[in-house]
Amino acid sequence: MPFIVAKTTETLDATIAAWRKEGASIAFVPTMGALHDGHLSLMERARGLADRLVVSIFVNPTQFAPGEDFERYPRPIEDDIAKLKELKADILFLPDVETMYPEGYVTNISVKGLNNILCGAVRPGHFDGVATVVARLFMLVKPEVAVFGEKDYQQLAIIRRMVTDLAIPVRVEGAPTLREPDGLAMSSRNLYLSKEERAIAAQIYAMLTHVATCIRQNPTHVVAVLAEGAAMLKNAGFQKVDYLELRDGVTLVPMNNLDRPARLLVAAHLGKTRLIDNVEVLPK
Ligand code: AMP
Repeated sequence: MPFIVAKTTETLDATIAAWRKEGASIAFVPTMGALHDGHLSLMERARGLADRLVVSIFVNPTQFAPGEDFERYPRPIEDDIAKLKELKADILFLPDVETMYPEGYVTNISVKGLNNILCGAVRPGHFDGVATVVARLFMLVKPEVAVFGEKDYQQLAIIRRMVTDLAIPVRVEGAPTLREPDGLAMSSRNLYLSKEERAIAAQIYAMLTHVATCIRQNPTHVVAVLAEGAAMLKNAGFQKVDYLELRDGVTLVPMNNLDRPARLLVAAHLGKTRLIDNVEVLPK
C-alpha cells in the first residue's frame, strides 16, 4: 500500500472510509513532528495494536503562549516523511492551521483541575490547547486506539480524563519514555541545546533516579528529598526549576508520603530551553 500524505480532511476521510469498508481497525499517533526515536517507538507500538497506522504532524498554535517557541519549533517535514515511509505508517495527516481551526472555530476543552497544575501553572492555556486539538484529531481520525508517550505524563493524564469524561470511543495507551544513552529523554526540543547544555541536560534524569531511590528509602521525607533534588539541578547549571514534585500516578494530587504508586515530575530551564521529564516511584 502506498504511503499517503493527507493535507485535507477530505483526503483523510476518503482513506479512512476505504479502510473501514475493508473492516480495518485504526491506531493513531499524534505528534508535532521533528520525529525522533521516541516518536517512532510509539508508532511501532501503535502498529501492533491495529491494522492501519495514522500519524499526524501539527504544530498546534493554541498550545503555545505568546513568547514561547511556536515560530522556531523545528519543522523538518521531508525528513519526517522519510522516517514515516520507512516505518511503514499508512498515512500522515498534515493539516494546516485553517484545516484544524476553520473560520468561526470557537470551542475550547478545559480539563479542569489537571490543566492548571505542574506545567499548566507555568504555561496557562497550554493544556486546553492540547486537549482541544487532540479531541478534534480524534473526531477526524476516529481511531480505535491512540498512543501517547509517558514523557509528557501530565498530557497523558489529561487526555485519559478527557476521553473518559466525554465518552470518546478511543482506547488511550501510554508508552514508556525513550532516552539517549546518557539518560536524557528524547525530545524535539533537545535540538535547541548547545553542546555544553546538552552535557548538563543528562543531569535531569540522574537527579530523578537519585531522588526516586531516596524517596523509596525514606518514604516520609519527601519534602526534604525534593528540595535536595532541585538544588542538584541548580548546581548542575540549570537556571530555574519550575517544579520538582511527587504526585499520585493517576490523579496527579501531591504526595508527601510514598504510600502508593507515584510519579516524580520535573520541569527545569537550561539556557533558553525548558526540559521536562518524569519517572515512576513505587513504594517498597
Ligand atoms: P510531540 O511531538 O512532542 O507532541 O510528541 C508526540 C508524542 O510523542 C507524545 O505522545 C509524546 O509524549 C511522545 N514522545 C515525545 N518524546 C518521547 C520519548 N522520548 N519517548 C516516548 N515518547 C515520546
